[in-house]
Amino acid sequence: MNRAIFLDRDGTINIDYGYINDPAKVKLVPGCAEGLKYLQEKFGFLFLVISNQSGIARGYLTHEELEAVNHKVESLLKEQGVKITRFYYCPHHPDHAEKQQCGCRKPSPGMIIKGLKDYQIDPASSYVIGDKLTDAEAGYNAGITSILLSHVDFSDQESFSGLQNPRLFPNFVAYNFSEVCDFISKDSNEKGH
Ligand SMILES: [Mg+2]
Ligand SMILES: [Zn+2]
Repeated sequence: MNRAIFLDRDGTINIDYGYINDPAKVKLVPGCAEGLKYLQEKFGFLFLVISNQSGIARGYLTHEELEAVNHKVESLLKEQGVKITRFYYCPHHPDHAEKQQCGCRKPSPGMIIKGLKDYQIDPASSYVIGDKLTDAEAGYNAGITSILLSHVDFSDQESFSGLQNPRLFPNFVAYNFSEVCDFISKDSNEKGH
């Protein structure tokens, strides 16, 4: 079986400006490419991107624009020796179009479950990394170890109360990719993977 890291895109791989629709504006989060390269070379992880893109349902961007942005993210990482296996995205939003919950918008685990099947991935030796508590919750819902790549200050009340909920509580909080790499190395070692 394969091992994978399910990566949120905006705010985790690339800087999140909100509803990015222009490939020219894509900038990688500092340390991301180096960290992912290390993890891919050392452990052979597949990288599957799982991204909520409700800007499509809201009419802020098209599927084509989204794919152009994904392609730019993919090529910026490739230049630095990192291979992304697949981009999954949820184009829905419950307040738009079908007006119902889809199974793919995080914190639902739909994109992760699809990735697990598509690439024969072992959930027990895989990880989810994201910058929001909904990423951690999607990991929880799929039974996968989650890492919150935090840009936020947890003294803020909303974030703090989120951390009191076990469904939202990530397995680890990292403040940069170097801490992500340290955690995964240590965790993999302890679990014997
Ligand atoms: Mg994000
Ligand atoms: Zn969806």
